[in-house]
Amino acid sequence: MARYTGPVCKQCRREKQKLFLKGQRCYTAKCGIEKKPYPPGLHGRARIRESEYLIQLREKQKARRFYGVLEKQFRLYYREASKSKGVTGEELLALLERRIDNVVYRAGFAASRRQARQLVNHGHFKVNGRRVTVPSYRLRVGDVVEARESSRNLVAIRHAVDTSPPAPEWLSADGDHVKVEMTALPKRSQIEAPVQESLIVELYSK
Ligand code: SF4
Repeated sequence: MARYTGPVCKQCRREKQKLFLKGQRCYTAKCGIEKKPYPPGLHGRARIRESEYLIQLREKQKARRFYGVLEKQFRLYYREASKSKGVTGEELLALLERRIDNVVYRAGFAASRRQARQLVNHGHFKVNGRRVTVPSYRLRVGDVVEARESSRNLVAIRHAVDTSPPAPEWLSADGDHVKVEMTALPKRSQIEAPVQESLIVELYSK
């Protein structure tokens, strides 16, 4: 289960926008983009002619980085989305949104998708009463996600529950915010990914 282990803020700087990959730090003056608002590398501040291909590539990379998915897996998501009946770009984002690491983050159990991925990986969450440790596990409508009893008082989870924004409409939290149920499939308007998915489709359709 490979994942990106390099410098995180460089990813935001490369995409020239905040992708909120580091939780609370992203909202402080320590944010990499606040400190160095230009792409990384020796030629980061050089003027680059933006070709059509480059714009499409950057959009795809942005989506990958936003969800913490490597190229091979991202392509598999695209292939699956392209075979579905809906709009390919929207289906692609919906598939990414239904990953359990993303759901844990959007439900407010973690401060970032990266943290959510680690929490899932370490076995802190259950789906329908069964422990799930695979961050790419895909949720279906009706599935219930909850932190394990022994994990509910972890500082990371408690802090996230207390400080995170409300869960999106397609997720329904119980009164104590211990369990979250997926009540519907996410619609494009409910997905906060800052990408133009049509550009990704154009890139992969070549
Ligand atoms: Fe991106 Fe967060 Fe790093 Fe800022 S602090 S550059 S938003 S990961």
